[in-house]
Order: sequence, then C-alpha cells, then structure tokens
Amino acid sequence: MPFAYDYLLEFQKQMQRGRCLHHSHGERCDKIIKAHSIQKSGQLSLIAENGHVYRLNNELAVLRKNNGIPDLKKIGIKQASTFLGFCKLHDNQLFEPIDKYPLEPTKEQIALYAFRCLCREYFVKENAVTTISNMTSHTDLNRHQLSFLKHSHLGHSNALANLQRHKSLFDSVILNSDFEQFEFICFTSSSPCQLQFSGVLYPDYDFEGKILQDLGVLTERLDLITFFSAPMENGWAFGFGWHVSSNKTCFPFIQSLANIVANGKKLEDALLRFVISCCENHAMRISWWDGLDADLKAQIIERMHIMTHPHIQVPVNYLMAGCEGVANWNFEYIHTSLPSKN
Ligand SMILES: [Zn+2]
Repeated sequence: MPFAYDYLLEFQKQMQRGRCLHHSHGERCDKIIKAHSIQKSGQLSLIAENGHVYRLNNELAVLRKNNGIPDLKKIGIKQASTFLGFCKLHDNQLFEPIDKYPLEPTKEQIALYAFRCLCREYFVKENAVTTISNMTSHTDLNRHQLSFLKHSHLGHSNALANLQRHKSLFDSVILNSDFEQFEFICFTSSSPCQLQFSGVLYPDYDFEGKILQDLGVLTERLDLITFFSAPMENGWAFGFGWHVSSNKTCFPFIQSLANIVANGKKLEDALLRFVISCCENHAMRISWWDGLDADLKAQIIERMHIMTHPHIQVPVNYLMAGCEGVANWNFEYIHTSLPSKN
C-alpha cells in the first residue's frame, strides 16, 4: 500500500512540474499554462454537455474498488486533456493555425497536430521516468517492487529516448517550416462527433495482425505515428500524421487498414477500435456513452483494461477485431498526402 500510494503521489507531483517544450524555450517563457492537448473551444466544446465530458479514469482508488478495471469519469472541459507542457506565449503562437482555423488539411496543420500529440506524450513519459528514478530510493521496497521498478525504468527510458529523437525531428520541421517532411491521411465525417482524442503510437502490429516492428528490443530506432481528431469546416476528421523518417512502418500500417476495408470490414469500427486500444487521452460525449448497450460498454472498458494493465500481454491481433457496432458515424471523404493507386 505505501509503495503504490507513494508512487502515485510522486507521479502526480511530477505532472504538476510545468515546463515549456517549445524548441526555443527560455527567458520568454514567462507563464506555464494548462495547455490543452485537445482544443477546448474547437473540439471539447463540440461534444460537451453542461460543460462536461467523460474521460478514462484509471486512478488507483478506482482500480482498487473495481478489481483493477478502469472506469469513466465526468470532467469539466477546462480540465480535460490539459498538461503543463507549454508557456502561454509559445502555445498561442505555435498552434494558432490549428486553434483558430479548421483543418483543411495543410501539411503545416498536420505537423502542428502531430507535434502537440508528441509533446503531451513526451511530457507524460518524462514524468514517468523521473518518478521511477525517484522511487528506487524508497525505503519500503521489497525485492519484487525493486525488480518491477528496474524493469519499468528500462522500458520507459527506451520509449523516452525514442520520443526525444522524434521530438528533435519535429522541432527541426517547425523551426525551418519544412512541413513537407510530414505525411498524413485524414478521414472526414459530417456526422455528429462523439469523441475527441490525441495520441502517439509505435505501431507494433497492423490491422491484419502482421508484425511491423518489435517493441521488445531496446533501440532508439522505433517508428512513430501520431493520431488525432480535428474540427473541419463542415464536420470533423480522424487524422494520422507522421514524419517521413517513419514511412517504413507507417506506410504498411495504413495499407493494412485499406486492405481490411477492401475486404468488407467497416472503417468506422476499425478506427474506433484503434482509438480505444491505443489512446488513453480521449474525451467522450456523455449522452452517447450513456446510451450505448451494456455489452458494448463492457467490451470497451475491457479493452481499455487490457491495454492499460502493465502485466496483461496484449494479443497480436488486437487491431483485427473487437468493439464493432459502437461507432455511429460515417466517414465520407479521405484527404491524404499518399499517392493514389488509381
Ligand atoms: Zn515557452
């Protein structure tokens, strides 16, 4: 008990340690703000009811009460998806093309969405590594806990080293306005939006269950894809964006999605499954979630449980099936930088 509790307290302390992740951070960063990783006015307010949304709740007290199963929690949109990773000046300046304008999409907008996804993950991962380092000197550790910490430290440090490499690539794109270094695919919908999200993934298996890269190997060469929801002039988009240095993994990943859709699987189901499986940074419309059948809700919560639990082995076919029939929206158009096959 003291160990788990102290671990959580230490992590919360780290999450309160604000710093600006802009490439030119320094003297001009006068005021660290609660930056939204998902826009408040353009995105969260679209799905909010009485100013609130649902978010994943895997806090220790909830996991204890529910036998390790996470839950959803109502949260005000001022608090939802925030992190202390930018100063006011840089947040306003840098993200103006996406915070003030709907997604067209331009490559600059894709790069900025991708950068914001990356920075939020970087902030959380850096906090995790610092937390683990600080906890190894905890006085109450038994042998198993120490071994868990050492193991976690290796994995998280490797993930952070990869994020550092990707962040320096992204920083350079932004510094030089070299937005051609980004590739993207966006699926657009005019249906009502029910959830908003932003995240990053080192793709391990594709939508057909084929391995793309081995995350078990400690290496700084893992390819990365970012994904996000975004408001458009007449609806919203589900976007994937990545730096060209990750083409080797991201091309076949997107191709596998095209393959399963060509074979009759629903795109909407596949993308919802992806978000639920690969992202813990999302917000849902309350009445949408409350209106889902109990067995669909149970399927989604179970999926979140598997994906967030440190000791459950994620099945290799996790993107191939599951969570069908939950998405009640349609994607109508595709915008992409990828060459057409026609
Ligand atoms: Zn700053």
